[in-house]
Amino acid sequence: MIIHLKPEVTSQVAEQLGRELESIVLPRQGFFALITSSKMKPLDEKYNQFISQKFPFDDDIQLASKKYLSDVREIKITDTVSIGGKTNNTVMITGPCSVESEAQIEQCSELCVELGVKVLRAGAYKPRTTPYAFQGLGLEGLKLLDKMRTKHNLKIITEIRDSTHVNEVIEYADILQIGAKAMYDHGILKACGKSGKPVLLKRGFGATLQEFVQAAEFILSGGNDNVILCERGIRTFETKTRFTLDLCGVAYLKQYTNLPIILDPSHAIGFAYGVADLSKACVAMGVDGLLIETHPNPSVAKSDAAQQLNFAQFRELNSQLAAVANAVGRKMI
Ligand code: PEP
Ligand code: MN
Repeated sequence: MIIHLKPEVTSQVAEQLGRELESIVLPRQGFFALITSSKMKPLDEKYNQFISQKFPFDDDIQLASKKYLSDVREIKITDTVSIGGKTNNTVMITGPCSVESEAQIEQCSELCVELGVKVLRAGAYKPRTTPYAFQGLGLEGLKLLDKMRTKHNLKIITEIRDSTHVNEVIEYADILQIGAKAMYDHGILKACGKSGKPVLLKRGFGATLQEFVQAAEFILSGGNDNVILCERGIRTFETKTRFTLDLCGVAYLKQYTNLPIILDPSHAIGFAYGVADLSKACVAMGVDGLLIETHPNPSVAKSDAAQQLNFAQFRELNSQLAAVANAVGRKMI
């Protein structure tokens, strides 16, 4: 249950109530909220004097629930660009899987500028499946992204692979990406909860929708209201595609959660040939953004080579998406 305490309840009293009701105490604007377990016993009447509003839930989806906030949260990326809310924006995010060199990330940034894409993605710490593959440029990669942000006036999204560099990424990124393999890492989730920066949380490829949203609850209950969900494909029995993009899951998340949703067709299919068709399907679902991997020369990419679009493919796709977005009352930005 989420309990809004009356504005006059002090932080000391809120902390005491939090202990008694085994709740997380969350400062809100002008009042404190208690987040109890959803399986809490009925509240004793003696607490009524402190309470202004109660929101009961029957599962552990609470702060992310539409029953708590009926509108999708608006996540401000710049003064003029927001993800979610009532904006009807479908925000394009693109860039390579990994930052590989200054020349490569420069070319990717120039593509963003050419097409008016405002958010550049690229990983500096890569969560690879094998220790023998390129692991990312680390801090050097973050610094290159920082340079691109200033030089090209772009916003940067980059991922936190593990807790050894959480603070580094928090310092350099505009949007913190938590990758599919890190979705269950409580150290990362809690560190992101303490940061005020927007967080893009990817769904673990073996995670249920409930587990996915519960991971988001760790960030939200830590005090960070700016969480974006990202569906990037789940593992099924199918082996011809890398993963299976769960659009049913997206429909569920749209219906029941108040978090903006970004779709990542690149990692879902794992092959460039399907990214354009899938992207159109995603935009037609009326989602808040798309994340697409692009590379100046995908055949030599150091990670995810098979799925990255070359610039010509991306230009063509980008020019087609505006009409699809328009048809469902949205605007690609
Ligand atoms: C990525 O965005 O490059 C990435 C590794 O994604 P995921 O965590 O979805 O596999
Ligand atoms: Mn990738």
